[in-house]
Amino acid sequence: MIDLHSHTHESDGTFSPEQLVAEARRAGVRTLAITDHDTFRGYDQARAYAKQASLDLICGIELSTKLHRQSVHLLGYFFDQSRLPEFRLWLLTLQASRRERNVRLVERLRSLGFDITLNEVEARGRGMTGRPHFARLLMEKGYVSSMQQAFDEYLTESGKAYVERMEPDFAEGVRRIREAGGLTSLAHPVRLKEMFQAMLPQMRNAGLDALEAYHSDHSLDDSELYLTLAGRHGMLVTGGSDFHGANKPGIELATGRNGNVCVPEGVLTALRKASPSFHTASGADQT
Ligand code: AMP
Ligand code: FE
Ligand code: FE
Ligand code: ZN
Repeated sequence: MIDLHSHTHESDGTFSPEQLVAEARRAGVRTLAITDHDTFRGYDQARAYAKQASLDLICGIELSTKLHRQSVHLLGYFFDQSRLPEFRLWLLTLQASRRERNVRLVERLRSLGFDITLNEVEARGRGMTGRPHFARLLMEKGYVSSMQQAFDEYLTESGKAYVERMEPDFAEGVRRIREAGGLTSLAHPVRLKEMFQAMLPQMRNAGLDALEAYHSDHSLDDSELYLTLAGRHGMLVTGGSDFHGANKPGIELATGRNGNVCVPEGVLTALRKASPSFHTASGADQT
């Protein structure tokens, strides 16, 4: 089995890199991509465990970008290791902007009467503290009954405590990933709802390589639609569960929600063939 979308506790998942590799083995996953938000720390740590477990581990990333004021998640895969240092430096600037936003978000929540501190939220978020960690903290303190309620009432874009964060343009995200030798894929296109089809030509022009056709939030009809559109635009497809452990209950590695994800072997073969890093010695060594 193949899963090209997963998170560790280095971003907003709850499994450590070691636990995620163990879970992949238990679930019969042969190829796993770790796609933490804005960081490679999970992948970096998982490499040694994956080697021991003979798991085919792919270096991935998920970036939050903006297109027409919409938040668009962009996946990157198969980086050229020799071109990664510059990309990693750029990731540090994204992390700094998130931290600066977090300072303002704590102030905003405190002004709404919540007794929370930056230290408390950063203790839950490690290197990549984001809104899911705020949601968890609000739940642990009994201010909301679920993480979803924290998002719906306070943290989502129309929520009472929402504060803006500097996010790169979609086109910049695509360019940065491609400059690092990576392939790009639009994460969970279903989130763009009815705007998606209108936005696709522009995303394709920006250099987007693939659509994430298989995802735990997609119905069979959704997946069919993305497969058709990818074919029509000469694009590749990717797929994965978007496993976050206890931060997204009900989603299993590789199989998604009640078995609604199954990424065909051919998806991986096509991606590897298309990857510019595939033919270079440095890029071939992904695990
Ligand atoms: P951040 O990058 O810190 O702004 O947090 C973004 C993350 O929060 C996303 O990657 C999602 O995992 C999560 N998220 C954003 N909006 C929602 C929402 N409405 N409901 C649940 N989770 C969300
Ligand atoms: Fe996430
Ligand atoms: Fe996402
Ligand atoms: Zn994700």
